[in-house]
Amino acid sequence: MAVQGRAALPIVPPPVLDERLSSWLARVADHYLVTVEELQAHVGWTLPLMELERRPAGADLERIAQATHFPVVRIAAMTFLDATERYLNLLRQDKRDTCPACSSGLTRAPLLKSSAFAFGFWCPWHRRLLFGAGGQGLSMLCDESAAREGTKLLEDWARGTTDDRLIPVGDAVSLLLSSRCPPTPPAPWELARLSPVERKRDAERLSRRCRRPILSLVVPEFDIAVPVCDQQVPTDIAGLVSALRAVRYAVAIGLARLMKSPAPVIARILAGSDPAARARVAARIGRWPSAFQRGLRMPPHGRPRMNRKREMA
Ligand SMILES: [Zn+2]
Repeated sequence: MAVQGRAALPIVPPPVLDERLSSWLARVADHYLVTVEELQAHVGWTLPLMELERRPAGADLERIAQATHFPVVRIAAMTFLDATERYLNLLRQDKRDTCPACSSGLTRAPLLKSSAFAFGFWCPWHRRLLFGAGGQGLSMLCDESAAREGTKLLEDWARGTTDDRLIPVGDAVSLLLSSRCPPTPPAPWELARLSPVERKRDAERLSRRCRRPILSLVVPEFDIAVPVCDQQVPTDIAGLVSALRAVRYAVAIGLARLMKSPAPVIARILAGSDPAARARVAARIGRWPSAFQRGLRMPPHGRPRMNRKREMA
């Protein structure tokens, strides 16, 4: 293939549904046995591929449309042109989670736009869990319905279709990521799954203090899925982009549980936190919409008395 000039490409593999522009252009380059950079030199778009996908320039889209005979509007739909800043901040641009069914018959697995979102765990067409690196511990987090509910809440929040004054999604995630007590070294039972050889080999790493996020109080199975010394739970939402898939999945589960039953979940959080964390939690919840405080009565020391009727329900 000539890499100079602006001749249209005679044959272009069609994009799959929901495919990202970067993924499609990589497959087009594969078709002509060239690199993406060589394809770029031929077609003439100017921005780096990841930037082109996040904030596409109209002239670049037109050049790609001309070279591929696809309408500009269809090329634009493969980018994150209309995404909110919040959604863009939660994109895992260079990750390669793929759907085996969508990849069937293709030499390069297509990457879907929805799977670039930090909480995009399933293929929207086949509804199956995406396959990718960093999936350790995921199989032990079995509450898929809660994970799907939490993912929906997070996606709506990131797209700006929920009212933050009514549903405090961002603040609830911050609560889950915050610490319930100062960092402590792993307890013996927390390392019970490791073999004696692993414990001896990694003795220094395993004796380090680990952060103790509130997430583990709301999703206790998370501590079984991922050993505390390997969790690396970020302290803020932005850090979730590079967190383990099991961490992100547990956050989705925790968010759904918190939003569905705030009273018992908050009671569990307060009971499992030290006094300083309890005070921070109580102050945070005090700023939440009244709908989420219904059923809770927060006394000055931060321990809620449960609404008896709701507790028994
Ligand atoms: Zn699929």
